[in-house]
Amino acid sequence: MALGVMQIRESTEALEKQVLHPLAARSELTRGRETPEALCSIRTAFQRDRDRILHSKAFRRLKHKTQMFIAPVGDHYRTRLTHSLEVAQVSRTVARALRLNEDLTESIALAHDLGHPPFGHTGEHILDELSPTGFHHQQQGLRIVKKLEALNLTLEVLDGMEGLTETKAEFLTLEAQIVDTADRMAYLHHDVEDARRAGIMTEADLPRDILTTLGSTRQERLDRMVTDMVHTSLETINSDNPRISLTSEIREAVMTLRQWMFDHIYLAPERMEQTENVRRVLTALYDFYLKHPQALSPNLPADEPLERRILDYIAGMTDRFAIEAYKAHLLPNTYQAFTVNPRHEGMPS
Ligand code: MG
Repeated sequence: MALGVMQIRESTEALEKQVLHPLAARSELTRGRETPEALCSIRTAFQRDRDRILHSKAFRRLKHKTQMFIAPVGDHYRTRLTHSLEVAQVSRTVARALRLNEDLTESIALAHDLGHPPFGHTGEHILDELSPTGFHHQQQGLRIVKKLEALNLTLEVLDGMEGLTETKAEFLTLEAQIVDTADRMAYLHHDVEDARRAGIMTEADLPRDILTTLGSTRQERLDRMVTDMVHTSLETINSDNPRISLTSEIREAVMTLRQWMFDHIYLAPERMEQTENVRRVLTALYDFYLKHPQALSPNLPADEPLERRILDYIAGMTDRFAIEAYKAHLLPNTYQAFTVNPRHEGMPS
């Protein structure tokens, strides 16, 4: 049957009603946006959110933000961008298998790390120490999409981006639960691979019970985690307590792998040296902008206190942008040979 343009979105919404699980988030029934707006004639609310996220500047900056290694030179190492794409892949696979809303999971997955500062979690901890009001990447992500880039996303996407907090024990949707679990699987999976690529570890270093339970190759491990998530959740979303879940065996193996990665890779002594370098760069930049607010991007919201604008500016930087800004502002003049103008790139409009 031929469709008029005006019927495309309605037809997709009708399809969602027909094929999705009764507990799926249906775009037609979205809780809406902070600022109400006219509907798109072609895309559903969640498809539109995905496109807004993909076209945002914060999303493009993820390509030069640390996942595990700072500004990696090798082309095959993950960055926050490829991490986000891998989280989206796992999330969509699971959502589609469970007949949940694939567009919503994709939106949340692509947006879930938008607020990450340069230098990964190390950068996050240091900004948290520097800022009088504290810093957390998920709160910063919300600030980017709500204020700095004003994407006016649906409440379902904002809920997934926010994650769980001390005051929030549950997500609004099963789709957000998928991304939350997929994120953990994706990073553990690819950080093992990147650490192996970097020669920090070999497959054989992993504890034997992890290899036995999750599999001895990277393909096996990801496949087993995702398959378990789909099969286990298929049962639990039809129970009295519908939720996205893993069997206890896989959940424990994932927790053990996570702990092993912290002990042997993330918090290894060589990486702690990097922490001091990151602290030096971010602290110096923070102090520099306190003394020289005119060096901040003119695009930052003028109605905010200086400390808040500095935090937005530094958090928005990519790894290499932060390093270049440090060189330009805080090393002796010989570095002016670098024609760096850190003022207008890498910032929200
Ligand atoms: Mg993540």
